[in-house]
Amino acid sequence: MPLTVKNLTTWFSLYEKIITENKNYLSELDTPIGDGDHGNNMARGVKAVQQSLISKEPTELTDACKQIAMALISKVGGASGPLYGTAFLEMAKKSKETSDIGELLIAAVAGIKKRGNAKVGDKTMIDVWEPLTAKINEGTLSSKDVTEAVDSTKKMVAKKGRASYLGDRSMNHLDPGAMSSGYLFTALIETKEIL
Ligand code: ADP
Ligand code: MG
Repeated sequence: MPLTVKNLTTWFSLYEKIITENKNYLSELDTPIGDGDHGNNMARGVKAVQQSLISKEPTELTDACKQIAMALISKVGGASGPLYGTAFLEMAKKSKETSDIGELLIAAVAGIKKRGNAKVGDKTMIDVWEPLTAKINEGTLSSKDVTEAVDSTKKMVAKKGRASYLGDRSMNHLDPGAMSSGYLFTALIETKEIL
């Protein structure tokens, strides 16, 4: 299905709601295997996205994706800010050719992987973005898939980011960036006009 300025805006306002409600939980997840800031980082970012979309209402999909990327890059910070920002910058670029959500997300995943050098199994947001983007392209994404992808990170040993400093001790914890990415896909499922 096509991504439009309208459904992208709806998607992000749902995302802001879920992130705000789960801000403390995200920071709790980031405490044993990180520095405990992921919830605050993401909450700051999604708020900045809302402010940007309100103060300068985009008319083109490319501009909307760019504004989202810029707000995330400038406000989220940490390792995750530039990675989420890259995802939306790549979507902005790809949106000049297509508005198909599946294709846009494939470009986003490629951008995150290029920037962060992580692959599936490294206990990062990629463990959510890659399999769920595949499901979207198969036309079968469900909430159960989101839960499974996020949960898959629990048994993994982190190979990238702060959590990788812990080696084997990073096991038995969910990855915070996988959780916040899971919320992005949950918000996407809730935005019925997109999928
Ligand atoms: P920081 O680790 O700098 O405090 P955050 O806490 O905001 O940043 O984000 C941590 C999350 O970023 C991790 O849970 C992980 O999902 C994601 N992450 C970190 N490094 C990478 C990477 N190289 N590739 C993909 N995702 C990464
Ligand atoms: Mg952190």
